[in-house]
Amino acid sequence: MSDFSNSFKKKYISSTSDGFMQLTIMPTEKCNFRCVYCYEDFKIGKMKQETLDGIKALISQSAPELKKLIIQWFGGEPTLNPKGIKEISEHIVALQKEYGFLYKAHMTTNAYVMDKAMFSEFVDLGIIDYQISLDGMPEQHNKTRIKANGDATFDTIWKNLCSYQEIKSEFNIVFRLHVMQENSQSMLELSKKIREQFGQDHRYMSFIRNIANLGGSSDEGVDKYVPNEKKKLDDLIEEMSQIMTTDKHKSHKKQGKDPYICYAAMPRHLTIRADGRLAKCTVAFDDDRNDLGRINPDGTLKINGEKFELWTRGFSSLNLKELACPNTNLPTERKYKEDKIEVTMV
Ligand code: SF4
Repeated sequence: MSDFSNSFKKKYISSTSDGFMQLTIMPTEKCNFRCVYCYEDFKIGKMKQETLDGIKALISQSAPELKKLIIQWFGGEPTLNPKGIKEISEHIVALQKEYGFLYKAHMTTNAYVMDKAMFSEFVDLGIIDYQISLDGMPEQHNKTRIKANGDATFDTIWKNLCSYQEIKSEFNIVFRLHVMQENSQSMLELSKKIREQFGQDHRYMSFIRNIANLGGSSDEGVDKYVPNEKKKLDDLIEEMSQIMTTDKHKSHKKQGKDPYICYAAMPRHLTIRADGRLAKCTVAFDDDRNDLGRINPDGTLKINGEKFELWTRGFSSLNLKELACPNTNLPTERKYKEDKIEVTMV
């Protein structure tokens, strides 16, 4: 690992260490949007009280040994269950005051129902990192990021994004800008709009990436959105980045030189689904190998250790591909034992 930066080495080591815990929590798997390229199936509704209780108990039991806790709010659309998010976050903030561990919380949201009041409450509860997607100017964005009832979404999202600027607190909003076939002109215009509105606010930044086919329920037809001319794509991304970048507004077009470690590969990471099932990857929910067990209301976890090992194998093989995406080339010839081990994650 000698060629990698200290921050990569630190991430590698902390990902396996006792005292580190990362949970991706899906407070609902329903969504108010139907983005044309989305891979989710929206079958599972709001998280039940017994699962919320289980998560709180898990964190309570882990708290005395915790050094760093990372929570990622994911869905479906997490903001459709603000009560569940607040209940767990308030519990964490109280534990953090008592035990002093580091706590970071991140949310992937479409920002449609997250008005200034909701956002402000979340920020006060320590959820300060957000990723929000935009697909272009209104006319273009409203073709691909549409509400479940078919309505347009751009104006409401933009109004919400601007309203957060009135808040004095620190937070980080990353615009995830989806480059697709046929939205280049719109993306260049959006880049100018972002610079005008957010170019002097260091709390907002941009991340440009192209749409990819991740598989799933809307698989058919996704390919027509995936850019197929690499040179054109690279030029567009470069131009967008130049338009948006100011001394305050950063714009990222690709990852740094350090290899990426997916959270699914990390031994100290779990995804907790809205129905209390446990997973690793947030893409392959239809795959039985990603159905690892469940969380009990008392905070104990039933985990199939053999499946768990498949996802974390990169940490023993040190294979960079298995660390970057353990979902690729997942071994298939496995028979899992029925018996599951009961663990408490501390
Ligand atoms: S394992 Fe691969 S597909 Fe799953 S979340 Fe990680 S990078 Fe994405």
